[in-house]
Amino acid sequence: MLELPEIATISRQLQSTVSDKTIGSVTVLSSPHKFAFLNRAADDYPRLLAGRKISATISRGNYAILTLDNTLSLVLGDMGGRLLYHPEGSPLPQKHQLLVEFEDRTSLTLTLQMWGAILLLDPDQLAAHSRISRMIPDPLDDDFTFEHFQRRIDSALLIESPSLKYFIISQFGLPGTGNGCTHDILFNARLHPKFPLANLTSELRHNLWQAARGTLKSMTEAGGRSTEHDLFDAPGKYVPILSNDKVGTPCPVCGTPIERITYLGGASFFCPKDQAMN
Ligand SMILES: [Zn+2]
Repeated sequence: MLELPEIATISRQLQSTVSDKTIGSVTVLSSPHKFAFLNRAADDYPRLLAGRKISATISRGNYAILTLDNTLSLVLGDMGGRLLYHPEGSPLPQKHQLLVEFEDRTSLTLTLQMWGAILLLDPDQLAAHSRISRMIPDPLDDDFTFEHFQRRIDSALLIESPSLKYFIISQFGLPGTGNGCTHDILFNARLHPKFPLANLTSELRHNLWQAARGTLKSMTEAGGRSTEHDLFDAPGKYVPILSNDKVGTPCPVCGTPIERITYLGGASFFCPKDQAMN
């Protein structure tokens, strides 16, 4: 899945490649996909997008937002797959769920694996969207302060007693952060995925906040994780500390073999010695 570091990278790249371009034509769901989530009929996309100019490209969490003529926004996010830019004359992927062709004959394609959202939102809908509203700071924003992070923890604790992994990937935790980025965040915080959120001392909360921001910053500055691809189909340069191929290899800190569990709908990797369980 493309998470915050990759979407932030792609969004930067979109800014330098498609800003101010005018859309010629749009094709949605040329290859049908069961888990492509649209908020309008597929026919609406070409009708509403053709002739519009890209006025801004930004990212919020794991969503890339392309604003058109300062009004409507094409919002792509919560997705696995490839969002690619194609110069004039270069071949397009055989299968895609979104093709945006610009008047200068360059284009963008989105090819989904797993699932993904392809949304057309007006400014009110954009402001009201729970995942991308500007009211919620991104983990790398200056206003994602320790105080803000503490409020997010306290909100999560009002409802249930979640583990750290649950908290991070839930709506309460770190916007734009899913299972993929969580392994290294928790490794850097020296906390186990199953550590109960309620047991975090003030010091551990601070460690987690620092580890989250530091890890996501390193990933973003490296152009995303090496397991995902950017707008030009190049893999990111951040090599995850923990991943499936590190299972059984020595922990880089203490040498204990890295372990894997299936937990909350996905694999979790961890060092059984360094990462406290409670
Ligand atoms: Zn270790």
